[in-house]
Amino acid sequence: MPSASANLVKKKNICTHCSVGCTVTAEVENGVWVGQEPSWESPINLGTHCAKGASIRELTHGDRRLKYPMKLVDGKWTRISWDTAINEIGDKLIDIRQKSGPESVYWLGSAKFSNEGGYLFRKFAAFWGTNNIDHQARICHSTTVAGVANTWGYGAMTNSYNDIHNSKSMIIMGGNPAEAHPVSLQHVLRGKEQNKAPLIVIDPRFTRTAAHATEYVRIRPGTDIPTIYGLLWHIFENGWEDKEYIRQRVYGMDDIRAEVAKWNPEEVERVTGVPGAQMKRVAETFAKNRPGTLIWCMGVTQHTVGTANVRALSILQLALGNIGIEGGGANIFRGHCNVQGCTDLGLDVTTLPAYYGLVEGAWKHWCRVWDVDYNWMLGRFQDKKMMETKGIPSTRWFDAVLVDKKDLEQQDNVKAMFFWGHGGNTVPRMPEMRTGMEKVELMVVVDPHPTTAAALPDRKNGTYLLPACTQLETRGSRTASNRSLQWGEQIVKPVFESKPDHWILYKLAKKLGFEQEMFKKIKIDEGDEPNVEDITREFNLGTVSIGYSGQSPERLKEHMAHQDDFDVVTLRATKGPLKGEFYGLPWPCWGTPEMKHPGTHVLYNTNLPVKDGGGAFRARFGVERNGVSLLADGSYPKDSEIQDGHPEFTYGLLKKMGWDKELTDTERATIEKIGGNNPDAVGWAIDYSCGIIRVTMAHGVQAMGNAKARANAFGLPDPIPVHREPIYSSRRDLVAKYPAMADRRDYRLPHL
Ligand code: SF4
Repeated sequence: MPSASANLVKKKNICTHCSVGCTVTAEVENGVWVGQEPSWESPINLGTHCAKGASIRELTHGDRRLKYPMKLVDGKWTRISWDTAINEIGDKLIDIRQKSGPESVYWLGSAKFSNEGGYLFRKFAAFWGTNNIDHQARICHSTTVAGVANTWGYGAMTNSYNDIHNSKSMIIMGGNPAEAHPVSLQHVLRGKEQNKAPLIVIDPRFTRTAAHATEYVRIRPGTDIPTIYGLLWHIFENGWEDKEYIRQRVYGMDDIRAEVAKWNPEEVERVTGVPGAQMKRVAETFAKNRPGTLIWCMGVTQHTVGTANVRALSILQLALGNIGIEGGGANIFRGHCNVQGCTDLGLDVTTLPAYYGLVEGAWKHWCRVWDVDYNWMLGRFQDKKMMETKGIPSTRWFDAVLVDKKDLEQQDNVKAMFFWGHGGNTVPRMPEMRTGMEKVELMVVVDPHPTTAAALPDRKNGTYLLPACTQLETRGSRTASNRSLQWGEQIVKPVFESKPDHWILYKLAKKLGFEQEMFKKIKIDEGDEPNVEDITREFNLGTVSIGYSGQSPERLKEHMAHQDDFDVVTLRATKGPLKGEFYGLPWPCWGTPEMKHPGTHVLYNTNLPVKDGGGAFRARFGVERNGVSLLADGSYPKDSEIQDGHPEFTYGLLKKMGWDKELTDTERATIEKIGGNNPDAVGWAIDYSCGIIRVTMAHGVQAMGNAKARANAFGLPDPIPVHREPIYSSRRDLVAKYPAMADRRDYRLPHL
């Protein structure tokens, strides 16, 4: 057996694919990343990676990396040097600033930044003089932040993935961790198995996560709030709520009770499509098996009423006394690896780092931290009003280009656009955005890979593509969904000519003439690279308000070195030098690093009375916009208008996407004969995510007679009206009913 090379070293960094925060142990030989395994010691990984984490080396060594800076010259990408890129971009920015003011540049950043990169990016925008700064959270969980912050204070997950081991019941609503956060599902399944905890999955789609459910609840898309009303109706009706908890800690529950009373089971069933008996069963299961955790993801947040959805879920947990206790909580699975950290550190049009608003006092606070004069900072902005006015959300920056000031508070149009670690492909209204991209004078894409943002617009000149390195080629901290920070070390040097974000920001600041002020407290190392640890120390100083102040680089590095000492369930070190501390010092981690606060595993202390600082919460639905209730009677369709099932899966769409080619000849012939996408007919839809054939009904249960006759005429089993009851609670049931399904090519459900 060959012996391990003497030159082989192991280095730890964090997987950059999702917010679970699994540790990657890379094997590096002579500066080359030659092997990889999950960190066996990490309390997060449970000794595993998912397929995404296992392929993370490709991010650095993949053949699609951007190799050097480029610019478009008459429509052709041309190689340039870094010096040329920084000089030309800088000159153009100065020109735009002189003509149109600082508001005319938009800084679209990334949830893939490290905390240090994200913080510096926010600081850079401030020093440039604009609040036009945003990142992917705008599109994923900004509604979560708004909804839970208004309910209990912090816009974050209250517990952790690991704490789910303590849950006696679980609801996953609008989330599919089996595919999106695979290692987190291992924690969920442990809770399910060890505690015999019922796992309820509420989703319009039967997902791979639903395949693990003890109870799968299919709701009609967009009926999240009535579903929660439905559960609360049974909880209040049967007295299953935690009365003492509500009495002591929850303000406003009487109003909720009155609102919920209007939603009787028949109405809830009509709107949600969930059978009344199932709704009651789920309410009873969740209420009687406490503590119960409520897990949600973007199926809940990405709605016009996303914030209201989040509030409704929060209220359900308050009614049952599930907040502020182990095994309970709102376990909100965030998306990108550092979307939590970048939100905390102010990559948002409405905040400065640590959720400070844009008011004068907050600016003065940060000016003190940065050691710059407030009036100097004010001078960077167009005026005081603009300094305190929120920027343009990333979903509307192109309106600023197109509408020429008409309906915006901002006084200038966007003339230059940065896509920094943001492909732009998740921004809604893509055609408008593309037009905006084509109209701006300057467009700069900074990314390890060429992205949609670089490829989408039809531009000839004025476009730059700069190669940033990945987080695996530099060092720094990241905040996982559970608020804990982890320190990643540099695995390999930046490949090709790529550079770390903080290097590029320093170079740009130098070109623009404010590097002295911006980097006053940050040492510049060899090669013009700002010292990463100094950046961490600087935000430690200013983020006392949410407790990002106790996690120094040294403490975080120690946590990575002693991963083995932490208990997998409590995330607390049970031995070693860190005994008593929680893994990754989840915020709030109050005070200074020297004070050694252990971090906070579960937000809100319900062991203390409210008068002594125990958790106190506000229950409020607030489902209205411009004074009009979004849930007013009549806002949901009448029976006769109900479009059951999933329009997106109807045959017409399958055809449009070209997916109909996947159908067998018999299936296709059947679908076409019975009406395809004709709204007056019954259509068969194929859900390729789990291979279930289900029936979509154009006109509700009234059409059942016809559907049955038509289906049987083609030798198919009785159709099941998907809005009336769940079809299968597991794949096993499905295969038992339709043996042919066992052979479908897309069956890869991990539990079977
Ligand atoms: Fe990476 Fe997320 Fe998979 Fe863990 S679960 S290996 S963090 S993608």
